Amino acid sequence: MESTYTLAGVMGWPVRHSRSPVIHGHWIREHGLKGDYVLLPVQPGQLPEALSGLRALGFAGCNLTIPHKVAALSLVDRVDPLAARIGAINTLVVKDGELLGYNTDAEGYVQSLREAQPSWRADSGPHAGPVAVLGAGGAARAVLAVLGEQGAPEIRICNRSLDKAQALAAEFGAHYPRTRWHAWPWEQRHAALDGCTQLVNTTSLGMTGQDALEIRLDALPRTALVCDVIYTPLETPLLAAARTRPGGQHVTVNGLGMLLYQARAAFQHWFGVLPEVTPALRRAVEATL
Ligand code: NDP
Repeated sequence: MESTYTLAGVMGWPVRHSRSPVIHGHWIREHGLKGDYVLLPVQPGQLPEALSGLRALGFAGCNLTIPHKVAALSLVDRVDPLAARIGAINTLVVKDGELLGYNTDAEGYVQSLREAQPSWRADSGPHAGPVAVLGAGGAARAVLAVLGEQGAPEIRICNRSLDKAQALAAEFGAHYPRTRWHAWPWEQRHAALDGCTQLVNTTSLGMTGQDALEIRLDALPRTALVCDVIYTPLETPLLAAARTRPGGQHVTVNGLGMLLYQARAAFQHWFGVLPEVTPALRRAVEATL
Protein backbone atom coordinates (compact mmCIF):
# COMPACT_ATOMS: atom_id res chain seq x y z
CA MET A 1 0.00 0.00 0.00
CA GLU A 2 1.54 3.31 -1.10
CA SER A 3 -0.15 5.19 1.73
CA THR A 4 1.92 3.43 4.40
CA TYR A 5 5.15 4.69 2.84
CA THR A 6 6.01 8.13 4.25
CA LEU A 7 8.12 10.48 2.18
CA ALA A 8 9.82 13.62 3.48
CA GLY A 9 12.94 15.55 2.55
CA VAL A 10 14.88 18.78 2.70
CA MET A 11 14.39 21.46 0.07
CA GLY A 12 17.17 23.95 -0.46
CA TRP A 13 19.79 25.31 -2.86
CA PRO A 14 22.45 24.13 -2.44
CA VAL A 15 21.30 21.20 -0.33
CA ARG A 16 23.78 18.38 -0.86
CA HIS A 17 25.73 19.19 2.34
CA SER A 18 22.63 18.91 4.55
CA ARG A 19 22.95 16.56 7.53
CA SER A 20 19.18 16.11 7.72
CA PRO A 21 19.06 12.88 5.64
CA VAL A 22 21.50 11.29 8.11
CA ILE A 23 19.36 12.33 11.07
CA HIS A 24 15.96 11.34 9.68
CA GLY A 25 17.31 8.21 7.98
CA HIS A 26 18.68 7.09 11.37
CA TRP A 27 15.27 7.47 13.02
CA ILE A 28 13.39 5.80 10.13
CA ARG A 29 15.62 2.73 10.53
CA GLU A 30 15.58 2.86 14.32
CA HIS A 31 11.77 2.77 14.39
CA GLY A 32 11.44 0.26 11.54
CA LEU A 33 9.28 2.69 9.56
CA LYS A 34 8.51 2.42 5.87
CA GLY A 35 9.60 5.67 4.33
CA ASP A 36 12.44 7.83 3.14
CA TYR A 37 13.92 11.29 3.63
CA VAL A 38 15.51 12.69 0.50
CA LEU A 39 17.44 15.70 -0.76
CA LEU A 40 15.26 18.08 -2.80
CA PRO A 41 17.52 20.53 -4.66
CA VAL A 42 15.20 23.38 -5.70
CA GLN A 43 16.40 26.65 -7.19
CA PRO A 44 14.94 29.86 -5.72
CA GLY A 45 12.63 30.63 -8.67
CA GLN A 46 11.18 27.13 -8.61
CA LEU A 47 9.82 27.13 -5.05
CA PRO A 48 6.09 27.61 -5.90
CA GLU A 49 6.12 24.69 -8.36
CA ALA A 50 8.18 22.54 -6.00
CA LEU A 51 5.76 23.09 -3.11
CA SER A 52 2.77 22.20 -5.30
CA GLY A 53 4.71 19.13 -6.38
CA LEU A 54 4.94 17.93 -2.78
CA ARG A 55 1.18 17.42 -2.74
CA ALA A 56 1.15 15.69 -6.12
CA LEU A 57 4.00 13.38 -5.16
CA GLY A 58 2.39 12.33 -1.90
CA PHE A 59 5.02 13.82 0.43
CA ALA A 60 4.14 14.11 4.12
CA GLY A 61 6.16 17.32 4.09
CA CYS A 62 9.70 18.59 4.06
CA ASN A 63 12.25 20.77 5.75
CA LEU A 64 13.14 24.07 4.13
CA THR A 65 16.61 25.50 4.24
CA ILE A 66 18.55 28.33 2.60
CA PRO A 67 17.25 30.18 0.57
CA HIS A 68 13.60 29.14 0.94
CA LYS A 69 12.77 29.67 4.63
CA VAL A 70 11.35 33.18 4.26
CA ALA A 71 9.90 32.90 0.75
CA ALA A 72 7.77 29.92 1.80
CA LEU A 73 5.78 32.09 4.25
CA SER A 74 3.66 33.50 1.44
CA LEU A 75 3.32 30.19 -0.39
CA VAL A 76 1.74 27.95 2.25
CA ASP A 77 -1.94 27.69 3.20
CA ARG A 78 -1.41 28.24 6.93
CA VAL A 79 1.49 29.48 9.04
CA ASP A 80 1.88 28.47 12.67
CA PRO A 81 1.89 31.62 14.91
CA LEU A 82 5.44 30.99 16.20
CA ALA A 83 6.76 30.57 12.64
CA ALA A 84 5.01 33.82 11.72
CA ARG A 85 6.73 35.63 14.60
CA ILE A 86 10.11 34.15 13.67
CA GLY A 87 9.43 35.14 10.06
CA ALA A 88 10.60 31.85 8.56
CA ILE A 89 9.41 28.28 7.97
CA ASN A 90 11.77 25.35 8.38
CA THR A 91 9.17 22.55 8.43
CA LEU A 92 6.31 22.00 5.99
CA VAL A 93 3.54 19.53 6.61
CA VAL A 94 1.06 18.39 3.96
CA LYS A 95 -2.24 17.70 5.69
CA ASP A 96 -5.59 17.11 4.01
CA GLY A 97 -4.19 18.69 0.84
CA GLU A 98 -3.07 21.84 2.65
CA LEU A 99 0.48 23.08 3.22
CA LEU A 100 1.12 23.99 6.86
CA GLY A 101 4.26 25.93 7.83
CA TYR A 102 6.08 25.53 11.14
CA ASN A 103 9.39 26.59 12.60
CA THR A 104 11.06 24.02 14.87
CA ASP A 105 14.43 25.83 15.17
CA ALA A 106 13.23 27.67 18.28
CA GLU A 107 12.16 24.42 19.93
CA GLY A 108 15.52 22.97 18.89
CA TYR A 109 17.39 25.75 20.65
CA VAL A 110 15.48 25.50 23.92
CA GLN A 111 15.82 21.71 24.03
CA SER A 112 19.57 22.02 23.51
CA LEU A 113 19.72 24.36 26.53
CA ARG A 114 17.70 21.94 28.65
CA GLU A 115 19.98 19.09 27.66
CA ALA A 116 22.93 21.03 29.13
CA GLN A 117 20.98 22.41 32.10
CA PRO A 118 17.80 20.40 32.73
CA SER A 119 16.54 23.00 35.20
CA TRP A 120 16.94 25.88 32.72
CA ARG A 121 14.16 28.45 32.72
CA ALA A 122 14.33 31.92 31.24
CA ASP A 123 11.85 33.54 33.60
CA SER A 124 12.81 32.34 37.07
CA GLY A 125 15.56 30.59 38.97
CA PRO A 126 19.32 30.91 38.63
CA HIS A 127 19.28 31.30 34.82
CA ALA A 128 16.74 34.12 34.70
CA GLY A 129 18.52 37.34 33.83
CA PRO A 130 19.75 39.34 30.85
CA VAL A 131 20.69 37.35 27.75
CA ALA A 132 23.21 38.65 25.21
CA VAL A 133 22.43 37.57 21.65
CA LEU A 134 25.11 38.21 19.06
CA GLY A 135 23.75 38.49 15.51
CA ALA A 136 20.47 39.49 13.91
CA GLY A 137 20.02 37.04 11.04
CA GLY A 138 17.79 34.00 10.57
CA ALA A 139 19.22 31.93 13.42
CA ALA A 140 18.95 34.94 15.76
CA ARG A 141 15.23 35.28 14.99
CA ALA A 142 14.52 31.71 16.17
CA VAL A 143 16.61 32.20 19.32
CA LEU A 144 15.01 35.57 20.12
CA ALA A 145 11.51 34.19 19.63
CA VAL A 146 12.03 31.32 22.01
CA LEU A 147 13.72 33.48 24.64
CA GLY A 148 10.79 35.91 24.40
CA GLU A 149 8.32 33.03 24.49
CA GLN A 150 9.99 31.62 27.61
CA GLY A 151 9.86 35.00 29.35
CA ALA A 152 13.51 36.09 29.49
CA PRO A 153 13.44 39.39 31.43
CA GLU A 154 15.97 41.25 29.25
CA ILE A 155 17.57 40.62 25.86
CA ARG A 156 20.54 42.55 24.47
CA ILE A 157 20.85 42.14 20.71
CA CYS A 158 24.29 42.99 19.49
CA ASN A 159 24.90 43.07 15.75
CA ARG A 160 27.48 44.41 13.29
CA SER A 161 24.68 46.26 11.48
CA LEU A 162 23.07 48.13 14.36
CA ASP A 163 19.95 48.98 12.36
CA LYS A 164 19.07 45.27 12.09
CA ALA A 165 19.46 44.83 15.85
CA GLN A 166 17.23 47.86 16.43
CA ALA A 167 14.60 46.56 14.01
CA LEU A 168 14.55 43.15 15.72
CA ALA A 169 14.33 44.72 19.19
CA ALA A 170 11.30 46.74 18.05
CA GLU A 171 9.66 43.82 16.26
CA PHE A 172 10.11 41.27 19.04
CA GLY A 173 9.32 43.90 21.66
CA ALA A 174 5.85 44.16 20.12
CA HIS A 175 5.40 40.35 20.27
CA TYR A 176 6.89 39.86 23.74
CA PRO A 177 6.31 42.97 25.88
CA ARG A 178 7.23 41.14 29.13
CA THR A 179 10.87 41.22 27.99
CA ARG A 180 13.01 44.37 27.91
CA TRP A 181 14.62 44.51 24.45
CA HIS A 182 17.80 46.49 23.76
CA ALA A 183 19.98 46.88 20.67
CA TRP A 184 23.71 47.21 21.32
CA PRO A 185 26.40 48.41 18.90
CA TRP A 186 28.79 45.65 17.83
CA GLU A 187 31.77 47.56 19.27
CA GLN A 188 30.17 47.31 22.72
CA ARG A 189 29.62 43.54 22.64
CA HIS A 190 32.20 42.98 25.42
CA ALA A 191 30.39 45.32 27.82
CA ALA A 192 26.98 43.91 26.80
CA LEU A 193 27.90 40.71 28.66
CA ASP A 194 27.84 42.43 32.05
CA GLY A 195 25.52 40.57 34.42
CA CYS A 196 24.21 38.20 31.73
CA THR A 197 23.03 34.66 32.51
CA GLN A 198 23.45 33.54 28.92
CA LEU A 199 25.52 34.49 25.89
CA VAL A 200 24.58 33.08 22.50
CA ASN A 201 26.44 33.54 19.26
CA THR A 202 24.12 33.40 16.25
CA THR A 203 26.55 35.03 13.81
CA SER A 204 28.53 32.92 11.36
CA LEU A 205 31.79 34.02 13.05
CA GLY A 206 33.69 30.99 14.33
CA MET A 207 32.33 28.65 11.67
CA THR A 208 34.88 26.58 9.77
CA GLY A 209 36.35 28.83 7.07
CA GLN A 210 35.16 32.08 8.74
CA ASP A 211 36.96 34.50 11.05
CA ALA A 212 36.76 33.71 14.76
CA LEU A 213 34.43 35.76 16.93
CA GLU A 214 36.47 38.26 18.90
CA ILE A 215 34.92 38.89 22.27
CA ARG A 216 36.25 39.44 25.79
CA LEU A 217 34.38 37.42 28.39
CA ASP A 218 35.65 39.44 31.41
CA ALA A 219 32.27 41.03 32.19
CA LEU A 220 30.33 37.76 31.87
CA PRO A 221 29.46 36.09 35.20
CA ARG A 222 31.01 32.61 35.36
CA THR A 223 27.62 31.06 36.03
CA ALA A 224 26.42 32.13 32.56
CA LEU A 225 25.65 29.57 29.87
CA VAL A 226 27.72 30.15 26.74
CA CYS A 227 26.04 28.92 23.56
CA ASP A 228 26.87 28.86 19.88
CA VAL A 229 24.42 27.85 17.15
CA ILE A 230 27.34 26.80 14.95
CA TYR A 231 28.05 23.06 14.73
CA THR A 232 31.00 23.05 12.31
CA PRO A 233 33.25 22.92 14.25
CA LEU A 234 31.51 21.43 17.27
CA GLU A 235 33.63 23.56 19.55
CA THR A 236 34.04 27.07 18.18
CA PRO A 237 36.82 29.32 19.51
CA LEU A 238 34.15 31.06 21.62
CA LEU A 239 33.09 27.81 23.29
CA ALA A 240 36.70 26.74 23.78
CA ALA A 241 37.50 30.06 25.48
CA ALA A 242 34.44 29.76 27.72
CA ARG A 243 35.18 26.14 28.62
CA THR A 244 38.77 26.89 29.60
CA ARG A 245 38.30 30.37 31.11
CA PRO A 246 40.89 30.80 33.86
CA GLY A 247 39.36 30.97 37.31
CA GLY A 248 36.10 29.22 36.41
CA GLN A 249 34.62 27.52 33.42
CA HIS A 250 31.28 28.10 31.74
CA VAL A 251 28.76 25.44 30.84
CA THR A 252 28.78 25.49 27.03
CA VAL A 253 26.19 24.45 24.44
CA ASN A 254 27.12 23.88 20.80
CA GLY A 255 24.81 24.09 17.78
CA LEU A 256 24.48 20.34 17.21
CA GLY A 257 21.74 20.04 19.82
CA MET A 258 19.68 22.73 18.09
CA LEU A 259 20.08 20.88 14.78
CA LEU A 260 19.09 17.51 16.25
CA TYR A 261 16.16 18.77 18.32
CA GLN A 262 14.65 20.84 15.49
CA ALA A 263 14.73 17.64 13.44
CA ARG A 264 13.08 15.67 16.25
CA ALA A 265 10.06 17.98 16.27
CA ALA A 266 9.81 17.89 12.46
CA PHE A 267 10.04 14.08 12.38
CA GLN A 268 7.07 13.80 14.70
CA HIS A 269 4.96 15.92 12.34
CA TRP A 270 5.56 13.58 9.40
CA PHE A 271 6.10 10.14 10.89
CA GLY A 272 3.90 10.39 13.98
CA VAL A 273 6.70 9.22 16.29
CA LEU A 274 8.73 11.44 18.62
CA PRO A 275 12.25 10.02 18.27
CA GLU A 276 15.10 10.34 20.75
CA VAL A 277 18.39 12.15 20.42
CA THR A 278 20.73 9.30 21.36
CA PRO A 279 24.53 9.01 21.56
CA ALA A 280 24.36 6.74 18.47
CA LEU A 281 22.60 9.49 16.50
CA ARG A 282 25.14 12.06 17.65
CA ARG A 283 27.98 9.78 16.55
CA ALA A 284 26.35 9.28 13.14
CA VAL A 285 26.03 13.03 12.59
CA GLU A 286 29.41 13.91 14.08
CA ALA A 287 31.00 11.49 11.60
CA THR A 288 29.79 13.82 8.81
CA LEU A 289 31.11 17.06 10.32
P1 NDP B 1 22.42 35.12 8.38
O1 NDP B 1 23.17 35.38 7.12
O2 NDP B 1 20.94 35.29 8.39
O3 NDP B 1 23.02 36.06 9.56
C1 NDP B 1 24.41 36.15 9.75
C2 NDP B 1 24.71 37.00 10.99
O4 NDP B 1 26.13 36.99 11.19
C3 NDP B 1 24.29 38.47 10.84
O5 NDP B 1 23.88 38.96 12.10
C4 NDP B 1 25.60 39.13 10.41
O6 NDP B 1 25.69 40.51 10.74
C5 NDP B 1 26.61 38.34 11.21
N1 NDP B 1 27.95 38.39 10.63
C6 NDP B 1 28.37 37.78 9.50
N2 NDP B 1 29.68 38.06 9.27
C7 NDP B 1 30.07 38.89 10.28
C8 NDP B 1 31.31 39.54 10.60
N3 NDP B 1 32.40 39.40 9.83
N4 NDP B 1 31.35 40.30 11.72
C9 NDP B 1 30.25 40.45 12.52
N5 NDP B 1 29.06 39.86 12.26
C10 NDP B 1 28.98 39.08 11.16
O7 NDP B 1 22.82 33.64 8.81
P2 NDP B 1 21.98 32.61 9.73
O8 NDP B 1 21.42 33.36 10.87
O9 NDP B 1 21.07 31.81 8.88
O10 NDP B 1 23.14 31.62 10.22
C11 NDP B 1 24.11 32.03 11.16
C12 NDP B 1 24.84 30.81 11.71
O11 NDP B 1 23.92 29.98 12.39
C13 NDP B 1 25.46 29.93 10.62
O12 NDP B 1 26.74 29.55 11.07
C14 NDP B 1 24.54 28.73 10.56
O13 NDP B 1 25.22 27.54 10.19
C15 NDP B 1 24.06 28.63 11.98
N6 NDP B 1 22.75 27.96 12.12
C16 NDP B 1 22.65 26.87 12.94
C17 NDP B 1 21.46 26.22 13.11
C18 NDP B 1 21.39 25.01 13.99
O14 NDP B 1 20.41 24.26 13.90
N7 NDP B 1 22.35 24.79 14.87
C19 NDP B 1 20.23 26.70 12.45
C20 NDP B 1 20.43 27.86 11.62
C21 NDP B 1 21.66 28.46 11.47
P3 NDP B 1 25.09 41.65 9.75
O15 NDP B 1 23.62 41.68 10.05
O16 NDP B 1 25.79 42.87 10.12
O17 NDP B 1 25.39 41.19 8.35
